[in-house]
Amino acid sequence: MTFKVPFSTLQQPKDAGGTALIHIMAKCTNLFIVRMERQGQQTDNFTADWLTKWHLHGRTPNPPDIRRIPTKLDYLYRYNIQAAYTPIRGNLESQKIYRKLLYKGLLTSIHAVAGLHEMRIQKLWPDTDWIQVWKNLSDAPVSDNTQCVWYQFIHDLIPTNVRLHRINVTPSNTCQQCAAIDTLEHRLNVCGEGRLIWQYMKTILARMLRTIPARTSNEWLLRPHFNIWPSKRNHAVLWTLANVVISRLLQRTAPKLQDFMYFLFRSRCKLMNNRLGRDLVGNYLTVLDPTPTGR
Ligand SMILES: [Zn+2]
Repeated sequence: MTFKVPFSTLQQPKDAGGTALIHIMAKCTNLFIVRMERQGQQTDNFTADWLTKWHLHGRTPNPPDIRRIPTKLDYLYRYNIQAAYTPIRGNLESQKIYRKLLYKGLLTSIHAVAGLHEMRIQKLWPDTDWIQVWKNLSDAPVSDNTQCVWYQFIHDLIPTNVRLHRINVTPSNTCQQCAAIDTLEHRLNVCGEGRLIWQYMKTILARMLRTIPARTSNEWLLRPHFNIWPSKRNHAVLWTLANVVISRLLQRTAPKLQDFMYFLFRSRCKLMNNRLGRDLVGNYLTVLDPTPTGR
């Protein structure tokens, strides 16, 4: 599944909703510094002679004197600037650890200059515990594809007609099924029998949590920032919510309660046929079984 997210989102750490993608500028500078240092340590080396001539071995004065080296000696000119902020490798420090520390330092200074990127959803919902949301998303015992779809919903990346109309892709911002405004919430738990389905699922979740449906939140579908004890119950709640999300996306043309129940039944069979899946949710999904009264 392919979809677009801002580059800065991918560079966020994994526990912050990104993919910990390498920062190319920091990585290249890192390689450049390490390479120059290595060359400087060699004898009979042209670069080592230049570094000696311009007093560039070790850390240079901070702030750097940028007029000291002619700009046409580009790599020495740049190294003079970088070396002013570069930590010296300790005697006991391995090359690998030194490179890691260097990369971390470069990232910190890049972020200090450019400002730390905050995701759009973090700005919209600053009170949400986003670390818990990303942890829950990766803990949900569902397929990678379902996690991917949920990720898009959480990031508000679904091309609803409200969004498409805003950039003149669709003639109107209304839903093709029912003519209501096609927002993310409308797709998730309103359109078709969406209200009925969500109401039913809230009673299921309430039974799982031994509470009343009013204590379950609509917000959980888009911001699952809860941490329920024990972890098996947390997994079961996450499995249920993820299935509501994926079924709503798959059943766009016939979002009926009966179709949804059948979908949920098959999905649970798949999970329970897998030993790992059974271990993750324990007995918590038995609340989906019909009660003796047939209700
Ligand atoms: Zn609709």
